[in-house]
Amino acid sequence: MADYHYDVVIIGAGPAGEGAAMNAAKNGKKVAIVEDKQMVGGNCTHWGTIPSKALRHAVKQIISFNTNPMFREIGEPRWFSFPQVLKNAERVISKQVKLRTEFYGRNRISVYTGQARFADAHTVDVYTGTQSNTRLHAEQVVIATGSSPWRPKNIDFNHPRIYDSDTILQLEHTPRTMIIYGAGVIGCEYASIFSGLGVKVDLIHPGDRLLNFLDDEISDALSYHLRDKGALIRHNEQFDSVQSNERYVTMTMASGKKVKADAFLWAAGRSGNTSHLGLESIGLTTNSRGQLEVDKEYRTAVENIYAVGDVIGWPSLASAAYDQGRAAAAQISAPEDFNFVDSVPTGIYTIPEISSVGKTERQLTEEKVPYEVGQAFFKNIARAQITAEGVGMLKILFHRQTLQILGIHCFGDQAAEIVHIGQAIMEQPGEGNTLKYFVNTTFNYPTMAEAYRVAALNGLNRL
Ligand SMILES: Cc1cc2nc3c(=O)[nH]c(=O)nc-3n(C[C@H](O)[C@H](O)[C@H](O)COP(=O)(O)OP(=O)(O)OC[C@H]3O[C@@H](n4cnc5c(N)ncnc54)[C@H](O)[C@@H]3O)c2cc1C
Repeated sequence: MADYHYDVVIIGAGPAGEGAAMNAAKNGKKVAIVEDKQMVGGNCTHWGTIPSKALRHAVKQIISFNTNPMFREIGEPRWFSFPQVLKNAERVISKQVKLRTEFYGRNRISVYTGQARFADAHTVDVYTGTQSNTRLHAEQVVIATGSSPWRPKNIDFNHPRIYDSDTILQLEHTPRTMIIYGAGVIGCEYASIFSGLGVKVDLIHPGDRLLNFLDDEISDALSYHLRDKGALIRHNEQFDSVQSNERYVTMTMASGKKVKADAFLWAAGRSGNTSHLGLESIGLTTNSRGQLEVDKEYRTAVENIYAVGDVIGWPSLASAAYDQGRAAAAQISAPEDFNFVDSVPTGIYTIPEISSVGKTERQLTEEKVPYEVGQAFFKNIARAQITAEGVGMLKILFHRQTLQILGIHCFGDQAAEIVHIGQAIMEQPGEGNTLKYFVNTTFNYPTMAEAYRVAALNGLNRL
Protein backbone atom coordinates (compact mmCIF):
# COMPACT_ATOMS: atom_id res chain seq x y z
CA MET A 1 0.00 0.00 0.00
CA ALA A 2 1.27 3.49 -0.89
CA ASP A 3 1.58 5.90 2.07
CA TYR A 4 1.33 9.70 1.79
CA HIS A 5 1.62 12.37 4.45
CA TYR A 6 -0.41 15.59 4.64
CA ASP A 7 -1.18 18.33 7.13
CA VAL A 8 -4.90 18.18 6.38
CA VAL A 9 -6.99 15.46 4.71
CA ILE A 10 -10.51 16.38 3.69
CA ILE A 11 -13.19 13.80 2.95
CA GLY A 12 -15.75 14.93 0.35
CA ALA A 13 -15.30 17.47 -2.46
CA GLY A 14 -18.63 19.30 -2.23
CA PRO A 15 -18.84 22.95 -1.17
CA ALA A 16 -17.90 22.18 2.47
CA GLY A 17 -14.83 20.17 1.45
CA GLU A 18 -13.83 22.69 -1.20
CA GLY A 19 -14.11 25.62 1.25
CA ALA A 20 -11.94 23.75 3.75
CA ALA A 21 -9.38 22.62 1.16
CA MET A 22 -8.92 26.04 -0.43
CA ASN A 23 -8.58 27.90 2.86
CA ALA A 24 -6.16 25.37 4.34
CA ALA A 25 -4.02 25.46 1.17
CA LYS A 26 -4.05 29.28 1.08
CA ASN A 27 -2.77 29.20 4.65
CA GLY A 28 0.21 27.08 3.66
CA LYS A 29 -1.01 23.62 4.62
CA LYS A 30 -0.27 20.51 2.57
CA VAL A 31 -3.75 19.32 1.67
CA ALA A 32 -5.37 16.23 0.15
CA ILE A 33 -9.03 15.68 -0.60
CA VAL A 34 -10.76 12.33 -1.12
CA GLU A 35 -13.92 12.13 -3.21
CA ASP A 36 -15.86 8.98 -4.03
CA LYS A 37 -17.43 10.42 -7.20
CA GLN A 38 -15.37 10.53 -10.39
CA MET A 39 -15.75 14.32 -10.44
CA VAL A 40 -15.47 17.04 -7.81
CA GLY A 41 -18.38 19.32 -6.88
CA GLY A 42 -20.30 17.07 -4.50
CA ASN A 43 -23.99 16.41 -4.50
CA CYS A 44 -24.38 20.18 -4.67
CA THR A 45 -23.09 20.25 -8.25
CA HIS A 46 -24.26 16.86 -9.50
CA TRP A 47 -27.66 16.18 -7.89
CA GLY A 48 -28.73 19.12 -5.73
CA THR A 49 -28.33 22.88 -5.87
CA ILE A 50 -26.89 23.41 -9.34
CA PRO A 51 -29.08 21.08 -11.44
CA SER A 52 -32.28 22.06 -9.64
CA LYS A 53 -31.53 25.76 -10.11
CA ALA A 54 -30.60 25.32 -13.77
CA LEU A 55 -33.79 23.34 -14.32
CA ARG A 56 -35.83 26.00 -12.61
CA HIS A 57 -34.28 28.74 -14.70
CA ALA A 58 -35.17 26.87 -17.90
CA VAL A 59 -38.73 26.30 -16.65
CA LYS A 60 -39.09 30.02 -15.85
CA GLN A 61 -38.04 30.87 -19.37
CA ILE A 62 -40.60 28.44 -20.76
CA ILE A 63 -43.33 29.94 -18.56
CA SER A 64 -42.32 33.39 -19.75
CA PHE A 65 -42.46 32.33 -23.41
CA ASN A 66 -45.80 30.60 -22.97
CA THR A 67 -47.53 33.33 -20.97
CA ASN A 68 -46.07 36.66 -22.15
CA PRO A 69 -48.44 38.02 -24.86
CA MET A 70 -45.48 39.62 -26.66
CA PHE A 71 -44.19 36.19 -27.70
CA ARG A 72 -47.49 35.24 -29.38
CA GLU A 73 -46.38 37.32 -32.36
CA ILE A 74 -43.58 34.81 -32.98
CA GLY A 75 -45.35 31.59 -32.06
CA GLU A 76 -47.85 29.64 -30.05
CA PRO A 77 -47.09 28.32 -26.54
CA ARG A 78 -44.80 25.29 -26.75
CA TRP A 79 -44.51 22.13 -24.69
CA PHE A 80 -41.08 21.03 -23.47
CA SER A 81 -40.19 17.56 -22.19
CA PHE A 82 -38.32 17.09 -18.93
CA PRO A 83 -35.22 15.60 -20.63
CA GLN A 84 -35.09 18.62 -22.99
CA VAL A 85 -35.15 21.01 -20.06
CA LEU A 86 -32.56 18.95 -18.21
CA LYS A 87 -30.01 19.64 -20.97
CA ASN A 88 -29.62 23.15 -19.56
CA ALA A 89 -28.60 21.66 -16.23
CA GLU A 90 -26.06 19.30 -17.83
CA ARG A 91 -24.36 22.23 -19.53
CA VAL A 92 -24.00 24.10 -16.24
CA ILE A 93 -22.81 21.02 -14.32
CA SER A 94 -19.94 20.39 -16.73
CA LYS A 95 -18.84 24.04 -16.55
CA GLN A 96 -18.91 23.92 -12.75
CA VAL A 97 -16.91 20.68 -12.62
CA LYS A 98 -14.27 22.07 -14.98
CA LEU A 99 -13.91 25.26 -12.96
CA ARG A 100 -13.76 23.50 -9.60
CA THR A 101 -11.28 20.89 -10.82
CA GLU A 102 -8.97 23.75 -11.84
CA PHE A 103 -9.18 25.25 -8.33
CA TYR A 104 -7.69 22.07 -6.85
CA GLY A 105 -4.89 21.93 -9.42
CA ARG A 106 -4.03 25.61 -9.08
CA ASN A 107 -3.79 25.34 -5.29
CA ARG A 108 -1.63 22.16 -5.42
CA ILE A 109 -4.24 20.09 -3.59
CA SER A 110 -3.99 16.34 -4.21
CA VAL A 111 -7.33 14.86 -5.24
CA TYR A 112 -7.83 11.12 -4.57
CA THR A 113 -10.77 9.32 -6.14
CA GLY A 114 -12.28 6.62 -3.93
CA GLN A 115 -14.13 6.06 -0.70
CA ALA A 116 -12.37 7.32 2.41
CA ARG A 117 -12.44 5.17 5.52
CA PHE A 118 -10.70 5.84 8.83
CA ALA A 119 -8.05 3.35 9.98
CA ASP A 120 -7.40 5.56 13.03
CA ALA A 121 -7.79 9.24 13.92
CA HIS A 122 -4.73 10.23 11.85
CA THR A 123 -5.03 7.68 9.03
CA VAL A 124 -7.51 7.53 6.16
CA ASP A 125 -7.56 4.68 3.63
CA VAL A 126 -8.86 5.32 0.13
CA TYR A 127 -10.94 2.41 -1.19
CA THR A 128 -11.75 1.67 -4.79
CA GLY A 129 -14.22 -1.20 -4.59
CA THR A 130 -13.27 -3.42 -1.65
CA GLN A 131 -9.55 -2.73 -2.01
CA SER A 132 -7.43 0.09 -0.65
CA ASN A 133 -4.00 0.72 -2.11
CA THR A 134 -3.62 4.23 -0.75
CA ARG A 135 -3.13 5.29 2.85
CA LEU A 136 -3.17 8.98 3.82
CA HIS A 137 -1.69 10.23 7.09
CA ALA A 138 -2.80 13.58 8.43
CA GLU A 139 -2.46 15.89 11.41
CA GLN A 140 -6.08 16.96 10.96
CA VAL A 141 -9.02 15.49 9.10
CA VAL A 142 -12.13 17.34 7.96
CA ILE A 143 -15.26 15.25 7.31
CA ALA A 144 -17.35 16.93 4.60
CA THR A 145 -19.25 13.96 3.24
CA GLY A 146 -22.64 15.64 2.81
CA SER A 147 -26.01 13.94 2.93
CA SER A 148 -28.24 11.64 0.89
CA PRO A 149 -32.00 11.26 0.68
CA TRP A 150 -33.31 9.24 3.59
CA ARG A 151 -35.05 6.16 2.12
CA PRO A 152 -37.79 4.30 3.99
CA LYS A 153 -37.40 0.53 3.63
CA ASN A 154 -40.93 -0.01 2.28
CA ILE A 155 -40.38 2.05 -0.88
CA ASP A 156 -38.94 0.39 -3.99
CA PHE A 157 -36.62 3.11 -5.28
CA ASN A 158 -35.56 0.84 -8.16
CA HIS A 159 -39.02 1.13 -9.69
CA PRO A 160 -38.92 3.36 -12.83
CA ARG A 161 -41.82 5.52 -11.55
CA ILE A 162 -40.39 6.13 -8.05
CA TYR A 163 -37.73 8.77 -7.40
CA ASP A 164 -35.97 10.65 -4.65
CA SER A 165 -34.35 14.10 -4.84
CA ASP A 166 -31.11 12.60 -6.26
CA THR A 167 -32.60 10.20 -8.81
CA ILE A 168 -35.26 12.59 -10.13
CA LEU A 169 -32.65 13.95 -12.54
CA GLN A 170 -32.67 10.55 -14.26
CA LEU A 171 -36.35 10.90 -15.19
CA GLU A 172 -36.43 10.05 -18.89
CA HIS A 173 -40.02 11.01 -19.67
CA THR A 174 -42.38 13.82 -18.67
CA PRO A 175 -45.16 12.54 -16.43
CA ARG A 176 -48.60 14.15 -16.70
CA THR A 177 -49.20 13.78 -12.98
CA MET A 178 -46.83 13.51 -10.06
CA ILE A 179 -47.06 12.94 -6.32
CA ILE A 180 -44.44 14.73 -4.24
CA TYR A 181 -44.31 13.60 -0.63
CA GLY A 182 -42.61 16.11 1.67
CA ALA A 183 -43.06 19.85 1.30
CA GLY A 184 -39.76 21.06 2.68
CA VAL A 185 -37.55 23.28 0.54
CA ILE A 186 -36.70 20.49 -1.92
CA GLY A 187 -40.31 19.28 -2.24
CA CYS A 188 -41.60 22.83 -2.81
CA GLU A 189 -38.85 23.60 -5.36
CA TYR A 190 -39.63 20.47 -7.38
CA ALA A 191 -43.37 21.16 -7.06
CA SER A 192 -42.68 24.55 -8.72
CA ILE A 193 -40.49 23.02 -11.43
CA PHE A 194 -42.94 20.28 -12.40
CA SER A 195 -46.06 22.39 -12.18
CA GLY A 196 -44.23 25.01 -14.28
CA LEU A 197 -43.79 22.28 -16.91
CA GLY A 198 -47.52 21.66 -16.85
CA VAL A 199 -47.40 18.51 -14.71
CA LYS A 200 -50.35 18.15 -12.29
CA VAL A 201 -48.63 17.92 -8.92
CA ASP A 202 -50.07 16.52 -5.68
CA LEU A 203 -47.88 17.98 -2.94
CA ILE A 204 -48.44 15.99 0.23
CA HIS A 205 -47.23 17.47 3.46
CA PRO A 206 -47.19 16.12 7.02
CA GLY A 207 -47.27 19.67 8.50
CA ASP A 208 -50.05 22.23 8.55
CA ARG A 209 -48.39 24.95 6.45
CA LEU A 210 -45.63 25.10 3.85
CA LEU A 211 -42.15 25.98 5.09
CA ASN A 212 -43.36 27.09 8.50
CA PHE A 213 -40.02 28.72 9.33
CA LEU A 214 -40.89 31.46 6.84
CA ASP A 215 -42.86 34.62 7.47
CA ASP A 216 -46.54 33.58 7.43
CA GLU A 217 -47.51 35.94 4.59
CA ILE A 218 -44.73 34.56 2.42
CA SER A 219 -45.60 30.96 3.15
CA ASP A 220 -49.23 31.81 2.25
CA ALA A 221 -48.05 33.45 -0.98
CA LEU A 222 -46.11 30.30 -1.92
CA SER A 223 -49.21 28.13 -1.34
CA TYR A 224 -51.28 30.52 -3.45
CA HIS A 225 -48.85 30.53 -6.38
CA LEU A 226 -48.32 26.75 -6.33
CA ARG A 227 -52.10 26.28 -6.43
CA ASP A 228 -52.31 28.87 -9.19
CA LYS A 229 -49.97 26.67 -11.25
CA GLY A 230 -52.26 23.68 -10.71
CA ALA A 231 -50.62 22.00 -7.72
CA LEU A 232 -52.90 20.41 -5.14
CA ILE A 233 -51.49 20.78 -1.62
CA ARG A 234 -52.65 18.33 1.03
CA HIS A 235 -51.60 19.24 4.58
CA ASN A 236 -51.47 17.06 7.70
CA GLU A 237 -51.12 13.83 5.75
CA GLN A 238 -48.53 11.19 6.68
CA PHE A 239 -47.04 8.69 4.26
CA ASP A 240 -48.06 5.08 4.67
CA SER A 241 -47.01 3.25 1.50
CA VAL A 242 -46.67 3.50 -2.26
CA GLN A 243 -47.71 0.80 -4.73
CA SER A 244 -46.40 0.85 -8.28
CA ASN A 245 -47.05 -0.92 -11.56
CA GLU A 246 -46.03 -0.35 -15.17
CA ARG A 247 -48.58 2.42 -15.73
CA TYR A 248 -48.92 4.37 -12.48
CA VAL A 249 -48.16 4.70 -8.77
CA THR A 250 -50.64 4.90 -5.91
CA MET A 251 -49.70 6.46 -2.61
CA THR A 252 -51.67 5.54 0.48
CA MET A 253 -51.70 8.01 3.34
CA ALA A 254 -51.88 7.13 7.02
CA SER A 255 -55.40 8.64 6.98
CA GLY A 256 -56.40 5.94 4.48
CA LYS A 257 -56.67 8.32 1.48
CA LYS A 258 -55.14 7.21 -1.79
CA VAL A 259 -53.76 9.27 -4.69
CA LYS A 260 -52.71 8.02 -8.09
CA ALA A 261 -50.15 9.54 -10.47
CA ASP A 262 -47.66 8.79 -13.22
CA ALA A 263 -44.66 9.25 -10.91
CA PHE A 264 -43.79 9.57 -7.23
CA LEU A 265 -41.07 11.80 -5.75
CA TRP A 266 -39.99 11.15 -2.17
CA ALA A 267 -38.71 14.43 -0.72
CA ALA A 268 -38.94 13.84 3.01
CA GLY A 269 -35.63 14.15 4.74
CA ARG A 270 -31.94 13.51 4.22
CA SER A 271 -29.34 11.76 6.37
CA GLY A 272 -25.62 12.34 6.82
CA ASN A 273 -23.20 10.27 4.70
CA THR A 274 -21.36 8.60 7.55
CA SER A 275 -22.10 4.90 7.27
CA HIS A 276 -19.00 4.04 5.16
CA LEU A 277 -16.48 6.17 7.03
CA GLY A 278 -15.38 3.51 9.51
CA LEU A 279 -16.26 5.83 12.40
CA GLU A 280 -16.09 2.86 14.78
CA SER A 281 -12.29 2.87 14.27
CA ILE A 282 -12.08 6.33 15.83
CA GLY A 283 -14.86 6.03 18.41
CA LEU A 284 -17.19 8.59 16.80
CA THR A 285 -20.94 8.07 16.82
CA THR A 286 -23.75 9.82 14.94
CA ASN A 287 -27.34 10.71 15.74
CA SER A 288 -30.24 8.73 14.27
CA ARG A 289 -29.97 10.78 11.04
CA GLY A 290 -26.32 9.83 10.55
CA GLN A 291 -25.19 13.36 11.46
CA LEU A 292 -22.11 14.27 13.48
CA GLU A 293 -22.13 16.62 16.44
CA VAL A 294 -19.54 19.43 16.47
CA ASP A 295 -18.63 22.20 18.88
CA LYS A 296 -18.44 25.95 18.13
CA GLU A 297 -15.14 25.34 16.30
CA TYR A 298 -16.55 22.57 14.07
CA ARG A 299 -14.54 20.00 16.05
CA THR A 300 -16.04 16.55 16.61
CA ALA A 301 -15.58 14.56 19.82
CA VAL A 302 -12.18 13.47 18.41
CA GLU A 303 -9.81 16.41 18.85
CA ASN A 304 -8.09 16.43 15.44
CA ILE A 305 -11.24 15.65 13.44
CA TYR A 306 -13.60 18.36 12.22
CA ALA A 307 -16.94 18.07 10.44
CA VAL A 308 -18.72 20.62 8.22
CA GLY A 309 -21.59 20.90 5.75
CA ASP A 310 -24.68 18.72 5.50
CA VAL A 311 -23.06 15.98 7.57
CA ILE A 312 -23.53 18.15 10.70
CA GLY A 313 -27.19 18.95 9.91
CA TRP A 314 -28.66 22.47 10.10
CA PRO A 315 -28.83 24.57 7.95
CA SER A 316 -27.93 22.03 5.21
CA LEU A 317 -27.31 24.67 2.58
CA ALA A 318 -24.46 24.87 0.10
CA SER A 319 -23.97 28.52 1.04
CA ALA A 320 -23.37 27.67 4.70
CA ALA A 321 -21.44 24.46 3.90
CA TYR A 322 -18.80 26.39 1.98
CA ASP A 323 -18.37 28.92 4.81
CA GLN A 324 -18.27 26.21 7.46
CA GLY A 325 -15.50 24.49 5.49
CA ARG A 326 -13.53 27.73 5.34
CA ALA A 327 -14.13 28.27 9.06
CA ALA A 328 -12.87 24.78 10.03
CA ALA A 329 -9.75 25.32 7.91
CA ALA A 330 -9.22 28.69 9.57
CA GLN A 331 -9.48 27.03 12.97
CA ILE A 332 -6.76 24.59 11.85
CA SER A 333 -4.43 26.98 10.06
CA ALA A 334 -5.23 30.62 10.96
CA PRO A 335 -7.42 30.71 14.11
CA GLU A 336 -7.42 34.53 14.16
CA ASP A 337 -9.60 34.43 11.01
CA PHE A 338 -12.11 31.95 12.44
CA ASN A 339 -15.76 32.92 12.10
CA PHE A 340 -18.64 30.70 13.26
CA VAL A 341 -21.35 30.56 10.60
CA ASP A 342 -24.60 31.60 12.25
CA SER A 343 -26.24 34.35 10.20
CA VAL A 344 -27.46 32.37 7.22
CA PRO A 345 -30.04 33.83 4.85
CA THR A 346 -32.73 31.56 3.44
CA GLY A 347 -32.87 31.27 -0.35
CA ILE A 348 -35.68 29.14 -1.74
CA TYR A 349 -35.89 28.76 -5.50
CA THR A 350 -39.55 28.07 -5.84
CA ILE A 351 -41.60 29.97 -8.41
CA PRO A 352 -41.85 32.66 -7.09
CA GLU A 353 -38.43 32.79 -5.45
CA ILE A 354 -38.28 33.37 -1.67
CA SER A 355 -35.55 34.76 0.51
CA SER A 356 -35.28 36.06 4.03
CA VAL A 357 -32.85 37.02 6.74
CA GLY A 358 -33.43 37.89 10.38
CA LYS A 359 -36.57 37.46 12.45
CA THR A 360 -40.13 36.79 11.36
CA GLU A 361 -43.22 38.59 12.65
CA ARG A 362 -44.14 35.45 14.60
CA GLN A 363 -40.78 35.42 16.39
CA LEU A 364 -40.88 39.15 17.16
CA THR A 365 -44.41 38.86 18.50
CA GLU A 366 -43.42 35.94 20.73
CA GLU A 367 -40.43 37.93 21.98
CA LYS A 368 -42.69 40.97 22.59
CA VAL A 369 -40.43 43.22 20.50
CA PRO A 370 -42.18 46.47 19.45
CA TYR A 371 -41.79 46.23 15.69
CA GLU A 372 -43.41 47.76 12.63
CA VAL A 373 -43.70 46.58 9.05
CA GLY A 374 -42.78 48.34 5.79
CA GLN A 375 -43.96 46.75 2.55
CA ALA A 376 -43.35 47.25 -1.15
CA PHE A 377 -45.27 45.29 -3.75
CA PHE A 378 -43.36 44.45 -6.92
CA LYS A 379 -46.37 45.29 -9.09
CA ASN A 380 -45.78 48.96 -8.12
CA ILE A 381 -42.02 48.98 -8.83
CA ALA A 382 -41.07 50.30 -12.27
CA ARG A 383 -38.35 47.72 -12.84
CA ALA A 384 -40.74 44.84 -12.12
CA GLN A 385 -43.30 46.36 -14.50
CA ILE A 386 -40.63 46.52 -17.21
CA THR A 387 -39.58 42.91 -16.69
CA ALA A 388 -43.20 41.78 -16.34
CA GLU A 389 -42.34 40.24 -12.97
CA GLY A 390 -45.02 41.93 -10.91
CA VAL A 391 -45.59 39.01 -8.52
CA GLY A 392 -43.76 39.66 -5.28
CA MET A 393 -43.27 41.69 -2.17
CA LEU A 394 -40.48 43.04 -0.01
CA LYS A 395 -41.20 43.33 3.67
CA ILE A 396 -38.92 45.02 6.18
CA LEU A 397 -39.50 44.47 9.90
CA PHE A 398 -37.99 47.19 12.08
CA HIS A 399 -37.97 48.36 15.69
CA ARG A 400 -40.57 51.07 16.30
CA GLN A 401 -38.29 53.18 18.50
CA THR A 402 -34.76 52.66 17.20
CA LEU A 403 -35.73 51.95 13.56
CA GLN A 404 -33.23 49.07 13.67
CA ILE A 405 -33.89 46.51 10.93
CA LEU A 406 -34.89 43.18 12.46
CA GLY A 407 -35.88 41.09 9.47
CA ILE A 408 -36.09 41.20 5.67
CA HIS A 409 -38.56 38.95 3.88
CA CYS A 410 -38.99 38.87 0.17
CA PHE A 411 -40.71 36.82 -2.49
CA GLY A 412 -40.75 37.31 -6.25
CA ASP A 413 -38.27 37.46 -9.09
CA GLN A 414 -34.64 37.74 -7.88
CA ALA A 415 -35.70 37.63 -4.20
CA ALA A 416 -32.51 35.73 -3.29
CA GLU A 417 -30.42 38.60 -4.73
CA ILE A 418 -32.61 41.42 -3.42
CA VAL A 419 -32.42 40.22 0.18
CA HIS A 420 -28.67 40.79 0.29
CA ILE A 421 -29.08 44.57 0.05
CA GLY A 422 -31.08 44.51 3.27
CA GLN A 423 -28.74 41.97 4.84
CA ALA A 424 -25.74 44.23 4.23
CA ILE A 425 -27.44 47.10 6.08
CA MET A 426 -28.75 44.82 8.83
CA GLU A 427 -25.22 43.63 9.57
CA GLN A 428 -23.91 47.18 10.07
CA PRO A 429 -22.92 47.93 13.66
CA GLY A 430 -24.80 50.50 15.79
CA GLU A 431 -26.78 53.19 14.03
CA GLY A 432 -25.54 51.98 10.67
CA ASN A 433 -28.40 49.50 10.81
CA THR A 434 -31.59 51.53 10.59
CA LEU A 435 -34.42 52.09 8.17
CA LYS A 436 -33.05 55.60 7.59
CA TYR A 437 -30.42 54.19 5.23
CA PHE A 438 -33.07 53.34 2.68
CA VAL A 439 -34.74 56.76 2.70
CA ASN A 440 -31.49 58.73 2.71
CA THR A 441 -29.78 56.78 -0.07
CA THR A 442 -30.18 57.39 -3.79
CA PHE A 443 -30.79 54.12 -5.62
CA ASN A 444 -30.38 53.53 -9.34
CA TYR A 445 -33.68 53.83 -11.14
CA PRO A 446 -35.38 51.72 -12.28
CA THR A 447 -34.10 48.88 -10.08
CA MET A 448 -35.55 46.34 -7.70
CA ALA A 449 -33.41 48.02 -5.01
CA GLU A 450 -35.97 50.81 -5.16
CA ALA A 451 -38.33 48.42 -3.36
CA TYR A 452 -36.29 49.08 -0.20
CA ARG A 453 -36.97 52.82 -0.37
CA VAL A 454 -40.67 52.22 -1.02
CA ALA A 455 -40.92 49.71 1.85
CA ALA A 456 -38.99 51.99 4.22
CA LEU A 457 -41.26 54.98 3.48
CA ASN A 458 -44.30 52.73 3.85
CA GLY A 459 -43.00 51.59 7.26
CA LEU A 460 -42.21 55.12 8.49
CA ASN A 461 -45.70 56.23 7.50
CA ARG A 462 -47.13 53.70 9.93
CA LEU A 463 -45.33 55.12 12.97
C1 LIG B 1 -32.56 19.25 -4.79
C2 LIG B 1 -31.68 20.07 -3.90
C3 LIG B 1 -31.64 21.45 -4.05
C4 LIG B 1 -30.82 22.23 -3.23
N1 LIG B 1 -30.80 23.58 -3.42
C5 LIG B 1 -29.99 24.36 -2.66
C6 LIG B 1 -29.91 25.77 -2.88
O1 LIG B 1 -30.59 26.31 -3.74
N2 LIG B 1 -29.07 26.51 -2.13
C7 LIG B 1 -28.29 25.94 -1.17
O2 LIG B 1 -27.52 26.67 -0.51
N3 LIG B 1 -28.34 24.60 -0.93
C8 LIG B 1 -29.16 23.80 -1.65
N4 LIG B 1 -29.21 22.45 -1.43
C9 LIG B 1 -28.39 21.86 -0.37
C10 LIG B 1 -26.95 21.69 -0.83
O3 LIG B 1 -26.89 20.92 -2.01
C11 LIG B 1 -26.17 21.03 0.28
O4 LIG B 1 -26.33 21.78 1.46
C12 LIG B 1 -24.69 20.96 -0.07
O5 LIG B 1 -24.49 20.13 -1.18
C13 LIG B 1 -23.89 20.43 1.12
O6 LIG B 1 -22.55 20.45 0.76
P1 LIG B 1 -21.53 19.39 1.38
O7 LIG B 1 -20.20 19.77 0.88
O8 LIG B 1 -21.75 19.28 2.84
O9 LIG B 1 -21.98 17.97 0.78
P2 LIG B 1 -22.13 17.44 -0.70
O10 LIG B 1 -22.37 18.49 -1.69
O11 LIG B 1 -23.13 16.36 -0.54
O12 LIG B 1 -20.71 16.79 -1.03
C14 LIG B 1 -20.21 15.72 -0.26
C15 LIG B 1 -19.35 14.83 -1.15
O13 LIG B 1 -18.69 13.85 -0.34
C16 LIG B 1 -18.69 12.62 -1.03
N5 LIG B 1 -18.50 11.52 -0.05
C17 LIG B 1 -19.41 11.03 0.82
N6 LIG B 1 -18.85 10.03 1.56
C18 LIG B 1 -17.58 9.91 1.13
C19 LIG B 1 -16.49 9.06 1.51
N7 LIG B 1 -16.60 8.16 2.50
N8 LIG B 1 -15.33 9.19 0.84
C20 LIG B 1 -15.18 10.11 -0.16
N9 LIG B 1 -16.17 10.95 -0.54
C21 LIG B 1 -17.35 10.86 0.10
C22 LIG B 1 -20.05 12.61 -1.71
O14 LIG B 1 -20.09 11.67 -2.78
C23 LIG B 1 -20.16 14.04 -2.18
O15 LIG B 1 -19.61 14.20 -3.46
C24 LIG B 1 -30.02 21.62 -2.24
C25 LIG B 1 -30.05 20.24 -2.08
C26 LIG B 1 -30.86 19.46 -2.90
C27 LIG B 1 -30.87 17.96 -2.71
